[in-house]
Amino acid sequence: MIEKDKVVLFHYSLKNEQGDLIEDSRKGEPLAYMHGHGGIISGLEKALEGKSEGDHIDVTIAAEDGYGERKEGMLQRVSAKYLKHAGKKLRPGMQVAVSTDKGNRMVTVVKVGLKTVDIDGNHPLAGLTLTFNVDIVDVRDATDEEKEHGHAHGPGGHNH
Ligand code: ZN
Repeated sequence: MIEKDKVVLFHYSLKNEQGDLIEDSRKGEPLAYMHGHGGIISGLEKALEGKSEGDHIDVTIAAEDGYGERKEGMLQRVSAKYLKHAGKKLRPGMQVAVSTDKGNRMVTVVKVGLKTVDIDGNHPLAGLTLTFNVDIVDVRDATDEEKEHGHAHGPGGHNH
């Protein structure tokens, strides 16, 4: 049963309010997280509490229990040289990493100029009501090392 310090593997698909499919893990390997450590959005963690291997859940999560509301003032114009896009042509809607003095941060490209790019620092799923369709693949005890780190290791989890 899913409770604090269990490592959970699950497959999921994610739809927005209009029913458009945004993400689907089923083509790849399941996602792993350690329960009770904020490794996934709070609404989903709450919905998984007490469930078991083989269970299926459908849950709709409001933005405040998901990726948060969209914030104003997250739009910025930056020099293109600060963006990491591995040589790919920058396009609106593309996710890129921007180097800041606090490390890399993922942002969304809004508009591409000649030398500058307008970026939005909001999480791309911020402000959305999200419906998750989840299949719980496996539930196991966390190892001591995982408890120490506060996250799941191995397939679908953290690789150091
Ligand atoms: Zn670790």
